Amino acid sequence: MILSKLASSIVESPTLRLNEEARILREKGESVIHLGIGEPKNKAPITAILASAARLSGGEIKYAPSDGIPSLKKAIIRYTEENYDKVVAPENVIVSAGAKLSLFNVLFSILNPQDEVILLAPYWVSYPEMIKMCYGVPVVVTPEDGGFQPRMEDIKRAVGSYTRAIVVNSPNNPSGCMYPESFLAELIEFCEKKGIWVIMDDIYHKLVFDGKTWPSPYKYAKKDLESTMVIVMNGVSKSYGMTGFRIGWVVTNRKLVSVINNIQAATTSCASTVLQSAAEGALTGMQSMVEGLRLTIENNRNVIMQELKTFRDIKCVPPDGTFYCLPDFRAYTPRFGGKSVDLSKFLLDKARVVTVPGKEFGMEGHLRLSFAGTVKDVMVGIERIKWALDPNSPNEIFLGDRKMVRDWL
Ligand code: PMP
Repeated sequence: MILSKLASSIVESPTLRLNEEARILREKGESVIHLGIGEPKNKAPITAILASAARLSGGEIKYAPSDGIPSLKKAIIRYTEENYDKVVAPENVIVSAGAKLSLFNVLFSILNPQDEVILLAPYWVSYPEMIKMCYGVPVVVTPEDGGFQPRMEDIKRAVGSYTRAIVVNSPNNPSGCMYPESFLAELIEFCEKKGIWVIMDDIYHKLVFDGKTWPSPYKYAKKDLESTMVIVMNGVSKSYGMTGFRIGWVVTNRKLVSVINNIQAATTSCASTVLQSAAEGALTGMQSMVEGLRLTIENNRNVIMQELKTFRDIKCVPPDGTFYCLPDFRAYTPRFGGKSVDLSKFLLDKARVVTVPGKEFGMEGHLRLSFAGTVKDVMVGIERIKWALDPNSPNEIFLGDRKMVRDWL
């Protein structure tokens, strides 16, 4: 059997694999705490449910224009005006079945074989595979100080004649850190001068804490919308907790939108019209639910930081946003050959806690912990990790109703 070499080289999504492992364990009746998953617990906004229900009950569920239903595009234009202070035309917007697909379409539309895309470590696990699928080459820039903030001088050093784009994801999955506004300003100026695309993965831009905000990139783009190198990607998955609805979008110049449109027309045709209506309902409905979700998650962030502080030898940069943090577990990885993958597996085996190994994000020795779940999940999850790793913690614990005794420290 001959398969595509390129397709076969794409690795399984580690986060989706972990979700599956956790699901199987839960089905067997195990008490699993999920600190791996990247989705909030909230119910979908009622306006999203009603809007999609209205479309369903109308009974006419047909193909739509491949760039999105006009009324959703109108809502995205309003969203862009309100949140980015930028007036854009319908021809600048294209809707896809999730921001993940939006990003893939962008990469597929801008890359030629061997073109390079700069990723800032820690980076979202899906970026390298998507770039490779488009015959591109991911070039990772890692902060020398072991922190999570990129430096312009490192980026400039990594830029060469094949550099086509740089992906900016702030607040960042997996670290939760937000980059300084001055960094964004300098990066956009640099990229506009060099003709490098700046792909803004803004999927978490509303989930920011401590009264901070993530700025609009257009504030720093000197060129107009049709010639700027800025591409904005966003969607309803995170801010509205609508991960299962699979609606994302891209805002950029008309030329690029029309290329993406042709690709979309030749592949998915369009995102589901029922789900596009749901996204429209979310964007045009009461926005207080976004703030409610943000507050809940900010509270969870405070809880997880408090819990991590009680843990010996773990350092964690407090997240500015998202629902992830990326604590440094290097004090505990020597037993695991320095491998976060093995540490994560050990925690699932022994303590039934799902974490995501930092290696997947270009940060070996760290674990990504999600605080998108309940406060109880966060507290019990950290308690279990402490029990499994820290000899100073009590050596007995209940995993659900099973009493476990630690015999490995
Ligand atoms: N970008 C980042 C950084 C993400 O974490 C995610 C979701 N995990 C996405 C994009 C994709 O979002 P969507 O559900 O809209 O595909």
